[in-house]
Amino acid sequence: MRRPLIAGNWKLNLGPGAAGALASYLARELGARHGVDVAVFPTALSIGPVVAALSGTAIGVGVQEIAAMTSDAMTGANSAVMAREAGCTWALVGHSERRQHFGETDAGVRAKTRAALDAGLSPIVCVGETLDERRTGRVQPVILRQLEQGLAGFDAAALSRVTLAYEPVWAIGTGETASPAQAQQVHGLIRAWLYSRLPRAVGDGLRILYGGSVKPGNAKSLLSQADIDGALVGGASLQVGAFAAIADAAG
Ligand code: PEP
Repeated sequence: MRRPLIAGNWKLNLGPGAAGALASYLARELGARHGVDVAVFPTALSIGPVVAALSGTAIGVGVQEIAAMTSDAMTGANSAVMAREAGCTWALVGHSERRQHFGETDAGVRAKTRAALDAGLSPIVCVGETLDERRTGRVQPVILRQLEQGLAGFDAAALSRVTLAYEPVWAIGTGETASPAQAQQVHGLIRAWLYSRLPRAVGDGLRILYGGSVKPGNAKSLLSQADIDGALVGGASLQVGAFAAIADAAG
């Protein structure tokens, strides 16, 4: 019912030359996949060559981080409008590394999600608990707070253009993965939250990605869960073979 999305977050890796080369490989390997949406998120400096290498394919390009404003005295920032002009169609918002290392807040997530939507980008809004929050039984309140505050004030039309990603912080880049049952439990919680705020058909249509050490070996069991509609992949998205195998597992 929901078309899977496999998104590769390249993080702070691959400058313009290397990113363009990886995108060219992906265009050959994944450019004509049917039944699965694919997108990659290079660092902002590498967006140009990646967009060029993927033009004419179905693989989308996204920006890893945007400012909430379109233009301002904000040294070092990139806006959603600029990312759109550069050829992006997606934007990551609220990734845990932004929350952890750059002080991203739920209010910031809300403003950036709005900026992405206004610029015509499809935001992927990330939520997830830390290890301490899981150990102390706070998964549910943390996820619900991030959703409530990060998406406050969005109507059904706006929310229908959002993709959510559940990324337990303790599973990102650690080799630790949430078990399929652990992941499904939180995805089910997120789906129930959507149903409580949206017409059923809109809640049914929204994709919820899982992220956290997704690899070819665990992709199938995660992606076969009822409310897991794709993956946000970090480390494994830097290898064409591994990323293609994850896309195959979704198809
Ligand atoms: C991520 O960057 O969103 C991520 C999930 O990374 P990794 O797959 O390396 O854990």
